[in-house]
Amino acid sequence: SLRAGIVGLPNVGKSTLFNSVVENGKAQAANFPFCTIEPNVGIVAVPDPRLNVLAELNKSHRAVPASIEFVDIAGLVKGASQGEGLGNKFLSHIREVDSILQVVRCFEDNDIVHVNGKVDPRSDIDVINLELVFSDLDQIEKRLEKLKKSKVKDSQSKLKEEAERSALERIQKNLMDGRPARTVSLTDFEKESIQHLCLLTMKPIIYVANVAESDIAEPGSNPHVREITDLASELNSGLVTISAQVESELTELPLEERIEYLKSLGVSESGLGNLIRATYTLLGLRTYFTSGEKETRAWTIHAGMTAPQAAGVIHSDFEKGFIRAETVAYEDFVAAGSLAAAREKGLLRSEGKEYIVQEGDVMLFRFNV
Ligand code: GDP
Repeated sequence: SLRAGIVGLPNVGKSTLFNSVVENGKAQAANFPFCTIEPNVGIVAVPDPRLNVLAELNKSHRAVPASIEFVDIAGLVKGASQGEGLGNKFLSHIREVDSILQVVRCFEDNDIVHVNGKVDPRSDIDVINLELVFSDLDQIEKRLEKLKKSKVKDSQSKLKEEAERSALERIQKNLMDGRPARTVSLTDFEKESIQHLCLLTMKPIIYVANVAESDIAEPGSNPHVREITDLASELNSGLVTISAQVESELTELPLEERIEYLKSLGVSESGLGNLIRATYTLLGLRTYFTSGEKETRAWTIHAGMTAPQAAGVIHSDFEKGFIRAETVAYEDFVAAGSLAAAREKGLLRSEGKEYIVQEGDVMLFRFNV
């Protein structure tokens, strides 16, 4: 499944958030066919009310939500990009995730020491951004040196290396001004040519503004949140507000009391849902469903994936042997009430290899083994 790495300076609320995520994951574990959780990895279900509707219509034995893995990457501090040992280890952990969630402290509390002496989310963001920028600059410099000495002969490889060189030089220029690689516009060919480098500042990042519980109903009333809203769009980053404290308190409450507690704070759901939705939006993710008597299940794909590619998310054999997919839109399925009724009404389509899977498609794959 998708991996999101949680980073941030010390004392901003990372562990509080991560532990709540893990507790939440444990509470849902009964629904999961996969419930092994490593110490620094928490698996959570992607909340989706459509899942249970489908499961009920099809009388499925179980409903399996899509999931996201949260990885706690504590320890990214100033100087990490220079450090040979630990620092590098943190950076290599970041290289392995699909997106970065940077927890940024926006709550005031004199009892909790801030590493820089005061709550200053802009500076927190700069510190971590710079570490990632330094690491990328270092890598790009080495790669450009190598490209200079390259002796490739065939024109195809030359073209590719030319695209890579040009992209890297532009990225390098931006990085020197502190601007992440993801802010540089690149052609698809250029993107492909630099993919092997796994640049850290190319990764989608969401700032998770950790606010006091009194601010969650109206995050805009917090001046720190207002301050980093512009910064987020400048740096091509997402922004979500959450209260790690509230998330943590929620895990202590029995399920039936959680809604009451949230209501008393002026919100209708936990911040985790927002965080997951923001990740979906930022990464351009979509959900499709498979549904039958055995189970109804949500699958995560990237926007623009074809039917065989989407089938490949379930199993690579499904992609290789793909013949066609019986497809019905979620709303059509629900309106018809059953697959048979949808078929009768002509709402069930037979789609081939070129079909681009749409958000909420309910799919049945036909394939050769
Ligand atoms: P980490 O070092 O980033 O992992 O930070 P922790 O999660 O350990 O939090 C540091 C301290 O801040 C702990 O004492 C938390 O209880 C406290 N803390 C975390 N989130 C909040 C919050 O939203 N409000 C307040 N007042 N304290 C918080």
